[in-house]
Amino acid sequence: MRPANIHIIGAGLAGLSAAVELATTGARIFVHESAKVAGGRCRSYFDPQLGMEIDNGNHLLLSGNAHALKYIRKIGSEDRLTQAPEARFPFVDLRSGRRWTIAPSRGPLPLWLFSGDRRAPGANLRDHMNMLKLIWTSGDAPIAERVDCHGALYENLTRPFLLAALNTDPAIASSALARQIMRETLAKGAAACRPIIAHEGLSKAFIEPALDYLQKRNVSVDLSKRLRALTFDGGRVTTLHFDDHSIDLTQDDMVIAAVPPNIAASLVPGLSTPDAFNAIVNVHFAITPPTGMPFMTGIVGATSEWLFAYRDRLSVTISAANHLLKRPLEDLAKEIWREVAQIAGVDAPLPPWRILREKRATFAATPDQNRRRPGVRTAYANLLLAGDWTATGLPATIEGAITSGVIAAAEAQMQLQQRKISTHANHG
Ligand SMILES: Cc1cc2nc3c(=O)[nH]c(=O)nc-3n(C[C@H](O)[C@H](O)[C@H](O)COP(=O)(O)OP(=O)(O)OC[C@H]3O[C@@H](n4cnc5c(N)ncnc54)[C@H](O)[C@@H]3O)c2cc1C
Repeated sequence: MRPANIHIIGAGLAGLSAAVELATTGARIFVHESAKVAGGRCRSYFDPQLGMEIDNGNHLLLSGNAHALKYIRKIGSEDRLTQAPEARFPFVDLRSGRRWTIAPSRGPLPLWLFSGDRRAPGANLRDHMNMLKLIWTSGDAPIAERVDCHGALYENLTRPFLLAALNTDPAIASSALARQIMRETLAKGAAACRPIIAHEGLSKAFIEPALDYLQKRNVSVDLSKRLRALTFDGGRVTTLHFDDHSIDLTQDDMVIAAVPPNIAASLVPGLSTPDAFNAIVNVHFAITPPTGMPFMTGIVGATSEWLFAYRDRLSVTISAANHLLKRPLEDLAKEIWREVAQIAGVDAPLPPWRILREKRATFAATPDQNRRRPGVRTAYANLLLAGDWTATGLPATIEGAITSGVIAAAEAQMQLQQRKISTHANHG
């Protein structure tokens, strides 16, 4: 009997992490990706306007992102990530010029809240304790129904962090998703909140090493192969249809669809998926940052939200940025450069710039959308789902995407195991 084939559709982080998990299980793994390159929404490319390689968006991990770090260790790319020595988040309010640093305590007890210079300005201990209530709430309601979404604490701490993590206006965002990320990071203390970045770019840290890992284990990754349709029969997927060929599946073969939600919905009849999305805008400036500038700065009272100082560029991230999609690019670049120059203390004309607008960067992390996320299993016995939009309990992040791949791989292995047992039993 030949080993089962597992076809993974999509070579974003979800598909790649599923493939990495399954590569050594004895099944034959095939990854089919529609784009010319792997990586999906987490990749690097050479930008001729800036004359350098940049990422499709600034991506930040935190040291509490356990599945992502396990994936990184497995594919052997730890040296392509830099972890900050401490969990310290410098902030500036561009209206007042006031600067402060949020610095969680080492352990899970929130002792940092007792130290005035480690808290958000204008907010007292009681405000902060109220915000921490989010960690212990239950159910899923908009965050504004659980904690106060006004005032200094919200503006100077809760909003910037949750907006970045959820890519959704926190007041209307899901309290269940906020709770989960706070439990995995803030509630565990500084050790789980250290920022991590891919200093050589996303592809060199997350994608290329995964492709090497898979190649060495005879996993085929086919690029420029768009899955157009699936044939179903008897409650199973029986054929995969690509542009120029089809693949018939045997009784033992499985499929993991790790494609974006709109594609999954078009391939799988009756599938519920998130259907509202938020944009992320990144603005890159080709200029060497001044010496001693913090690697990342949170910004309030401005259009910019986070400023990243890379070796060869300054780069701004703006989340839930749907309102910026129609702004003339030059206009936006000038406005953001004024803010960046003020924060960095740089007196220079607008450097070469590039604005990247990912219109459907993530699903909108509202309670309604969260309820639309399906689990790993589908109505079809041999079809599983993965992707940052599936029901991982996490928002659409690197950690969420990799977790979904791990869940799908575990489910596939379990099903294959069960089939082996029942085949043996039948033959016995
Ligand atoms: C600008 C931006 C900034 C972000 N910042 C952060 C951050 O700071 N921290 C963080 O943790 N996360 C961040 N994220 C989120 C993170 O990038 C995503 O959650 C993650 O990359 C999603 O991976 P995925 O595999 O689920 O989906 P995708 O990356 O979308 O992968 C799906 C893959 O399927 C392929 N595909 C589609 N249709 C087909 C088909 N018919 N046949 C075959 N293949 C198909 C696509 O080409 C793609 O490669 C950011 C995202 C963006 C866009």
